[in-house]
Amino acid sequence: MTDPVTTPRLEIRNITRVFEGREVVSDVSLTVMPGQVTCLLGPSGCGKSTTLRIIAGVDMQDTGEIYVDGNLVCDTQFRVPPERRSIGLMFQDFALFPHLSVEDNVAFGIKGDKSNKRARVRELLEKVDLLRAIDKYPHELSGGEQQRIALARALAPRPSIMLMDEPFSGLDERLKDDIRDSTLDVLKAENTAVLLVTHEPHEAMRMADEIALMRDGKIVQQGAPYNIYNAPVDRQAAAFFSDIN
Ligand code: ADP
Ligand code: MG
Repeated sequence: MTDPVTTPRLEIRNITRVFEGREVVSDVSLTVMPGQVTCLLGPSGCGKSTTLRIIAGVDMQDTGEIYVDGNLVCDTQFRVPPERRSIGLMFQDFALFPHLSVEDNVAFGIKGDKSNKRARVRELLEKVDLLRAIDKYPHELSGGEQQRIALARALAPRPSIMLMDEPFSGLDERLKDDIRDSTLDVLKAENTAVLLVTHEPHEAMRMADEIALMRDGKIVQQGAPYNIYNAPVDRQAAAFFSDIN
């Protein structure tokens, strides 16, 4: 038996990915504990999305292992398909199904009978404060509202771990902090473990319990946000944090 409190929701060990002879992800290891938001933070092109795609199972590492709730889901010989990894996904392009109502969008990934589905959908729509939109269609909603529905949809099946790749980057700059805060409230209310990818130090400082700082495919520093902010590992890390907004 694995202990649900001390077993990481996600653990990746020594993940490496080579594209065209270049190590784009280089010996990356990290863990996400239950209820925690771990942020994979680094400049554009450093290998964040590749790492996330490998965890999601839509790309394959060259070396290393991935565990969800203590269970191996992928190494170089063995591979659980993406839909059976208990992973929730949210990317910048979070496209809802345009032909489905909000209710059907959120219900999409939920298993079980009709009344269970309905109850779960209502619970989530309440959490994202959009119960009033239950019968609407995506095109009737603002960008921020669609984003909240996408969050509800991703959380609906109760994934063990949520992977979020720059989920706020398509949104109006003035709304971002409000949406970050309300997203974090929902994630905490659902007690979901999250691996959040961003290139914005401000976003990591605002949302993360733990930051893994990535550069040129490698994790160069890992720890609590304020430790990383106050004691950056080198000049480059300090410069990266210096233009925090
Ligand atoms: P980030 O998400 O941090 O911006 P990515 O993981 O998207 O970085 O990309 C890391 C590097 O890998 C980049 O130099 C990118 O051009 C390269 N890369 C990503 N995907 C591929 C691919 N399928 N084939 C070749 N190179 C790729
Ligand atoms: Mg990316």
